[in-house]
Amino acid sequence: MGKRYDVAIVGSGPAGLSAAVNAKIRNKEIILFGYSDLSNKLIKAPKINNYLGFPNITGQELKENFQRHMEAMDIEITTERINSIYAMGDYFVLMANEKMYEAKAVILATGMEYTKPLKGEVEFLGRGVGYCATCDAPLYKGKVVTVIGYNKEAEEEANYVSELAQKLYYIPVYNGDYKLSDKIEVIKDKPVEVKGENIVTALELANSTLKTDGVFILKDSISPGQLVPGLEMEEGHIKVDRNMKTNLKGCFAAGDCIGKPYQYIKAAGEGLIAALSAVSYVDSMR
Ligand SMILES: Cc1cc2nc3c(=O)[nH]c(=O)nc-3n(C[C@H](O)[C@H](O)[C@H](O)COP(=O)(O)OP(=O)(O)OC[C@H]3O[C@@H](n4cnc5c(N)ncnc54)[C@H](O)[C@@H]3O)c2cc1C
Repeated sequence: MGKRYDVAIVGSGPAGLSAAVNAKIRNKEIILFGYSDLSNKLIKAPKINNYLGFPNITGQELKENFQRHMEAMDIEITTERINSIYAMGDYFVLMANEKMYEAKAVILATGMEYTKPLKGEVEFLGRGVGYCATCDAPLYKGKVVTVIGYNKEAEEEANYVSELAQKLYYIPVYNGDYKLSDKIEVIKDKPVEVKGENIVTALELANSTLKTDGVFILKDSISPGQLVPGLEMEEGHIKVDRNMKTNLKGCFAAGDCIGKPYQYIKAAGEGLIAALSAVSYVDSMR
C-alpha cells in the first residue's frame, strides 16, 4: 500500500481542478484523478461568454488556460479512472483497475452523465452488465463481450478485453477514427435494451440483436451512487449541504454532479468550497 493522501479529488473538470488548486494552496497532499484532456464537455464548448474574466473564449482555449494553471502550481493529473470508493471510517480506499489509493478525504467532481441508462442496464448490473471492462475482463475469458463506448478512452479498454474474449463487438456512441484491434467488430447501431433471464444473453440494437455474455457501458462518468456505496443521492444528484458535505464523513462533492445549473463558474466555485471543507476536515483529524 502506498501513502495516504490528505485529499483525493475524482474528476478533472472545472470543479475538480478548482478543488485541487485550493487544497494545494493550503499545503495539503493531494491526488487528482481524471483525463489529460481535462473534460470532454470543456473541449466541446464552441464559445463561452459567462466565465468571468474570459469573454468570448472557446472551450479549447479555456482548457489550455486551466492546463497552464495546473502546470504553474505543479499539480499533476493521475490519468486513471476510479471505479469504486469505499469509506473505511477515517479514510477512503479508491480503486482504479488493479490499483488502490488511500486518502483521508475525498472530493467527488465527476460531472454529470446526461444520457439515461439503457433499458435493462440497472437490472442486469453485476449479472453481465459492467462499467469497467478491464476490471471484469477475466470473467469473460473465451466469451462474447460487447463494449458500448461513449468516448475514445473506451477503445483502450476494448482492445485489452479483446485479447481475452472469444469475440468482441464495439458500439461507438461518438464519431471519429477508432483505434481498435483487428479482432474487434465495430457495429454502428443504436443500443436499445440489455436482455436476459438471470444473466445477460443479448443486446438489442435498433436494427439487429447481438448475442452476448457481457455488456460494458463505458461513459465519461458512472452514477456517483454506484461509485461510492452508501452515498446519499437526491433526484439524480449527490446530496450536499452548503459546505459541499455529503452524508459520508470526509466525503465532499462539487460541480454538475451535485445539481443544476450546469455551468463552469458554478462548478469552480463549488470546487473551492469543497476543498476548504475537506481541508478543515483533515485538519480536525490531527
Ligand atoms: C457543448 C457544451 C457547451 C457548454 N457551454 C457552457 C458555457 O458556455 N458556459 C457554462 O458555464 N457551461 C457550459 N457547459 C456546461 C459545462 O461544461 C459544465 O457545467 C462543466 O463542465 C461542469 O464541470 P464539472 O467539473 O462539474 O464536470 P465535468 O466538466 O463534466 O468534468 C468531470 C470530469 O471528471 C471525469 N471523471 C468522471 N468520473 C471519473 C472517475 N470515476 N474517475 C476519473 N475521472 C472521472 C470526467 O471524465 C470529466 O473529465 C457546456 C457543456 C457542453 C456539453
